[in-house]
Amino acid sequence: MIVETYIVFVNVALVIYFAFREGIAGGFITSAISIAYYFYIIYTRHFVKRQYISGIDTIFILAILYFFLAYIIGWLKERIDQLIDRQTDERRRLEAIIQQLPVGVLITDKNGRLQHQNKQIAQILGKKYPANYIFGKHTPLLKDMFNGEEVIPAQVPLAQALTKRAIINKQYTIERGSHKQAYLQVNASAIRNKRGEIIAAAQIVSDITQQKELERQKDDFLSMASHELKTPITSLKMFVDLQTKQLNEKDPTKAKYYNERIRDQANRLKELTNDLLDVSRIQTGKLRFNKEIFDISEVVKDTVEGLQASTKHHHIIIKSSGKHRVQADKYRIYQVLVNLITNAVKYSPKAMRIIVKVKKIKHNIVVSVQDFGIGIDQSEQHKIFEKLYQVTDPEEKTFPGLGLGLYISKQIIERHEGKIWVKSKKRKGATFFFCLPAYTG
Ligand code: ADP
Repeated sequence: MIVETYIVFVNVALVIYFAFREGIAGGFITSAISIAYYFYIIYTRHFVKRQYISGIDTIFILAILYFFLAYIIGWLKERIDQLIDRQTDERRRLEAIIQQLPVGVLITDKNGRLQHQNKQIAQILGKKYPANYIFGKHTPLLKDMFNGEEVIPAQVPLAQALTKRAIINKQYTIERGSHKQAYLQVNASAIRNKRGEIIAAAQIVSDITQQKELERQKDDFLSMASHELKTPITSLKMFVDLQTKQLNEKDPTKAKYYNERIRDQANRLKELTNDLLDVSRIQTGKLRFNKEIFDISEVVKDTVEGLQASTKHHHIIIKSSGKHRVQADKYRIYQVLVNLITNAVKYSPKAMRIIVKVKKIKHNIVVSVQDFGIGIDQSEQHKIFEKLYQVTDPEEKTFPGLGLGLYISKQIIERHEGKIWVKSKKRKGATFFFCLPAYTG
């Protein structure tokens, strides 16, 4: 009897084990094998009729018990498996979303120990946190943007969020890589369970360096533009006052001189506003061209004649022979030439010569403007065609300008399927070139 009890217990244990391992099917198969084994025992022990009937009854009850147990435990196991699968899928989905986000994400457990970080974190902070890093225990790289102070451990956004204070849109600066300053916007908050207990914390880090740089450029531009506009306006006012004063003296030489200065300043104002308008037209794609066929050498000649009249110090030499026809917007090409030649004059105050050449090279007409002035360092040469770029060494500080002329010229030439470039050495002068497809029709 004791042996049979053991057998029943062992079978119950087996049914539970296989139902838990393999689910309902595993439990049912184990139950079926156990019941078959009981039948085998009855059969081999040659029971008399009463013993036989009571044996069958017991097997019947045990079968119900086993199958019931197998079903319940198997069902439970399948439910737990489903929950685990769902949780794993959820984790994977979350991980994929976190990795795709354009912002950096850090997630810690309730003790501040790092659980997740996406690849943007490494890009934004310039470093990856080691696995299991504990926030709040080490000094981070952050500096508060407004007071420049180091953020001490207890104030690390994640650590702060874990002590119940959420961080909203706080801005910091960090030194990234080779002492490059980056601006960050940080949000951090605690994650709570149903009962309101903190179970984790999440921090979102956005790189706002570009945005800050744009804001800075906008501010610089506004102050530069107002300065540039103020200069001719002040001069205009001054010459108008002088002109008014000398009206009584009736001195025609003075009157002529003041009139010329007033005209110069008014022209400068017109140029500045035209440049600003052109940039906005380029930006909005509204720069239109009226193309016609003309000889570019003629335009060069006219431009040089006009500009020579306004500079007594420089001698502008033209080296061009024959006709060089192009199909382009005559006024815009004139504008490029004016910009290159006035730059040559402006940036070579000590030199006397400027050479303008027009040549046909293969299928292109190449125009060059050479000066013998301050030149441009190799490292600056690709930048000077960018919007608002001005070389900022002490020598250059004294030259007026907005840094728009070459940007506008580049846009004009490129919209004519041409190219513009520069060859220069610091203090050895500069030669600006542009080419346009020659008109062969
Ligand atoms: P800006 O109004 O400042 O002259 P540009 O776009 O015409 O603007 O030129 C951009 C910058 O390129 C200038 O600020 C100057 O530093 C540099 N640059 C242009 N032309 C010359 C030149 N001929 N020689 C030396 N530097 C030049």
